[in-house]
Amino acid sequence: MNMKQYFLLISFISLFINILYAQSNSKQLRIIVIGAHPDDCDVKAGGTAALFAAMGHAVKFVSVTNGDAGHQLQGGGALAKRRTAEAQEAGKRLGVVYDVLDNHDGELLPSLEVRLQIIRKIREWNADVVITHRPNDYHPDHRYTGILVQDAAYMVAVPNIAPDVPPLKKNPVFLYMQDDFQRPNPFRPDIAIDISEVYNQKIHALDAHQSQMYEWNPWIGGYTDEVPQKTDNREKWLAQKWAVKITPEVKAALDKWYSKEKAAKAEYAEAFEICEYGTQPVAEEIRRLFPIIEKKAQILSEPTAGGSILKVKHTTNFDVTGDGSAANWNNTEWLMLRQRNNTNVAYQTQLKLLYSDSGIYCLYRCEDRKIKATLKEDFLDLYNEDVVEAFFWTDETAPVYFEYELSPLNYELPILVPNIKGNFLGWRPWHYEGSRRTKHATHIDKNGEAVTSWTAEFFIPYALLTPMANVPPQKGTQWRANFYRIDYDKGEATWQWQIVQRESFHDYQSFGTIVFE
Ligand SMILES: [Zn+2]
Repeated sequence: MNMKQYFLLISFISLFINILYAQSNSKQLRIIVIGAHPDDCDVKAGGTAALFAAMGHAVKFVSVTNGDAGHQLQGGGALAKRRTAEAQEAGKRLGVVYDVLDNHDGELLPSLEVRLQIIRKIREWNADVVITHRPNDYHPDHRYTGILVQDAAYMVAVPNIAPDVPPLKKNPVFLYMQDDFQRPNPFRPDIAIDISEVYNQKIHALDAHQSQMYEWNPWIGGYTDEVPQKTDNREKWLAQKWAVKITPEVKAALDKWYSKEKAAKAEYAEAFEICEYGTQPVAEEIRRLFPIIEKKAQILSEPTAGGSILKVKHTTNFDVTGDGSAANWNNTEWLMLRQRNNTNVAYQTQLKLLYSDSGIYCLYRCEDRKIKATLKEDFLDLYNEDVVEAFFWTDETAPVYFEYELSPLNYELPILVPNIKGNFLGWRPWHYEGSRRTKHATHIDKNGEAVTSWTAEFFIPYALLTPMANVPPQKGTQWRANFYRIDYDKGEATWQWQIVQRESFHDYQSFGTIVFE
């Protein structure tokens, strides 16, 4: 193949990729989960929500009551306020929006007033899928939430009901969350979702409901003495306490929706039953509504709660200190990277980005207990030890991107990666000196002797990215990018911003989009 043919091929591939993106954009799905209390959605559908959010779909959790009865020592407005804040935090941890309605806990009735509230919520979210409790449940608030949502099904499409909010054009698919009540009929798992890869993230969201997970549930359940004293050990305990056994029926559903190998490997699952009052989806429609099963058609350029667009703010240049103490960082928000495997650890990994006229700044904050880092030289295989990584693909017409790795000991690996149809190898920068050099620093945070986290801060000058196109970025320029972390405390655990397929950080076609403001 000569050069001309080669470039023609590359342009064709890039055109094809763009068409794929354009198609997937129109398919952003909108999911609403409606639970009785602030934590019910998380417990029953937190993993499923995290998977949707990670793909760029929009998920909302609604708690129909404000939770003001769910505590042995507190109550009323103060408790409602506390639980609303916990729900907001849990929502952040899953990448979903969380609404708490101001109805009293323990006193919910299937009234017309609440039905209209729910109809409006479903319409305002323009939901494709609505998930709720079954009306057979131990808690009256759960039962009536199930009834209220059933009562809203169909009515969401009727224009004369709640006419202040436009009706939906189509009745959504309504689903029930899993429970183990048997009468009058047991739960039937029509759909089962393997949530193993996000189980830790789900537990991290449950951990946000401190008043419930560590105070109220243990008290009413008579297991207060089991709650670990040390906050360090609590998520691990929660992960065991809230582990739901995969029943034979749910296993059969996993076998139906996943490949045999994948179904056999599933450790944790969430299952759903199709309600008869919504749209009745056939198998093909279920696969379209649950792209989290096959992880196809990733949304790349639609801003959502989960976020696959990241806006990068402009800054003046500043000194890289390693601990993110420069005041410039205060003007931008943390982005949560999602843990994608290994349930032995549950650490948060957060990221900030800024750009200046001369380069791009990255700041990672990695919760950690052990620093596994022995390599003491640049350009080594840093990814075999604790590390953070950033990938910048500045120009979608060329299969070439920049990769940067930094270890907790502040050793770096900057490389340019040509990736020709999956064949790739990093190339070290030539004339790596002067204005082409990165600036980088790290900091290990301790509480006494114990490591609590480490931070990595680095600056990549545009001069180093020569000759990639779209560099330096202007206001409005878009680059594709992805961000990762690897930790080796208990086996290999990895975190990512956008989900990459084929288990490779080099799946650049799945990268997200950063936009320079
Ligand atoms: Zn509840």
